[in-house]
Amino acid sequence: MYNEKIELLIDGKWRQGSEGKSESLLDPATEEVLAAVPHASAADLDEALAAAAKGFKVWKKKTAIERYNILAKAAELIDARKDEIAKILTLENGKPLGEAAGEIAFSAEALRFYAEEGKRAYGRIIPSRTPGVRQMVFKEPIGPVAAFTAWNFPASNVIRKLGGALAAGCSIIIKPAEETPGTAVAFGRCFQEAGLPDGVLNIVFGDPAFVSSHLIASPIPKAVTLTGSTAVGKLLQKQSADTLKRCLMELGGHAPVIIHEDADLEKTLDLLAAFKFRNAGQVCTSPTRFYVHEKIYEHALNGFVERVKKIKIGAGVDEGTQMGPMIAERRLDVMDGLVADAVEKGATLLTGGARIANKGYFYAPTVLRDVPDTARIMSEEPFGPIAPFTSFSDFDSLMERANSLPYGLASFVFTQDGALARKTEEELEAGMVGVNFMGISTPETPFGGVNESGDGSESGLEGLEEYMRVKYVAEL
Ligand code: NAD
Repeated sequence: MYNEKIELLIDGKWRQGSEGKSESLLDPATEEVLAAVPHASAADLDEALAAAAKGFKVWKKKTAIERYNILAKAAELIDARKDEIAKILTLENGKPLGEAAGEIAFSAEALRFYAEEGKRAYGRIIPSRTPGVRQMVFKEPIGPVAAFTAWNFPASNVIRKLGGALAAGCSIIIKPAEETPGTAVAFGRCFQEAGLPDGVLNIVFGDPAFVSSHLIASPIPKAVTLTGSTAVGKLLQKQSADTLKRCLMELGGHAPVIIHEDADLEKTLDLLAAFKFRNAGQVCTSPTRFYVHEKIYEHALNGFVERVKKIKIGAGVDEGTQMGPMIAERRLDVMDGLVADAVEKGATLLTGGARIANKGYFYAPTVLRDVPDTARIMSEEPFGPIAPFTSFSDFDSLMERANSLPYGLASFVFTQDGALARKTEEELEAGMVGVNFMGISTPETPFGGVNESGDGSESGLEGLEEYMRVKYVAEL
């Protein structure tokens, strides 16, 4: 059962939208209605802005230790409720319970990491040219933050923003995705119970374009952050220019996977088959362009397809499910379009390529071979369970193809040759490179893209810095 009442959190109070508008929240596995998601009106958003301004004044004056104590307590509450929050996450997003539980555990860890690092937001003292002058650099919270997150990681997308902003001493208004609101609401309750002062965290839902343009037009938020598509990121960054807000953008990607001739193929395929279909491929770092050396191409394809056919598909709450549904009906149409286009341009469909089941938004894990670079799927982020394969023979033209897109988020390389690994790492235009390893997202390490995949990093020390500004004081 879906056990969360969806409400707005404005100035420490949980409530419905003042104009009574709402939308239905659907279970993507059954298409049943789980709850109603209230929409914030313009008046509600103005209240949230005023609350964030007031909350910032209170929160920035707390000592780092006081902030740590509240955030660490919230992390403890998230941990204690992980099973019930994971169930909410699975019902609204569709991913298997095991993946959801892992995401909640990650969220508690990430929040703890940020809380700890908030105690170490050191400045520095610079030797002066003038006798008797002390030159000091302080790190200050940047101010109230407006944050927007997508539905694919309902917990970790949200906590990366809350953890960074709150540990730095900022207040925040967050609009989590309307498709997955319950996880963020459950987190909000943990922060409230941990003693976060009113107005420091505000949660709103509504029409995304209306909410984001209203919040960004206000001079109150000093920073804007989005986890979402490149198209929306560009829009929000343009809107932010009018008041020159800092932008932290975690956007789309189109990750190349390069499998060199000497890769440990069985291990590589085990890793890739598991990682590619995680969250039904709806992951910004999901491998989406498979470049395999021509000498091992047939072998790799056979091994990959064999593994893919064994993936157990079902509702995320069902025991043994390895891949759940996609988030919404519209995504199934996008998958069909990408497959049809690739086949029309010369690719061969090896498995999948169609919607499955009459109810729920299930799409079969799909493998395409000999996909030409001109197929749409080789340049448009598929964001779904499709793996397009192509072969290569020459390193230089491979790198040209791998770096040919405006994206630069994740990339993966498989080889046992250290020198070749280094050469490939160095040439890839990407914010993150996994070499014989897919686990590129941890609380301690920076997560972010370059070029049109975004600007700035979340997690790690970098994730805290994004929410801080510098003040220089010269004192005689
Ligand atoms: P979409 O762009 O319609 O929505 C993605 C998310 O952005 C939603 O949660 C939505 O509420 C939000 N959004 C949309 N317009 C907004 C606006 N003007 N202001 C603030 N938020 C806004 O796409 P979709 O069909 O839901 O998902 C598919 C695409 O989204 C993919 O192609 C992928 O690139 C992108 N996406 C990226 C990530 C990521 O982690 N980088 C996550 C989810 C979706």
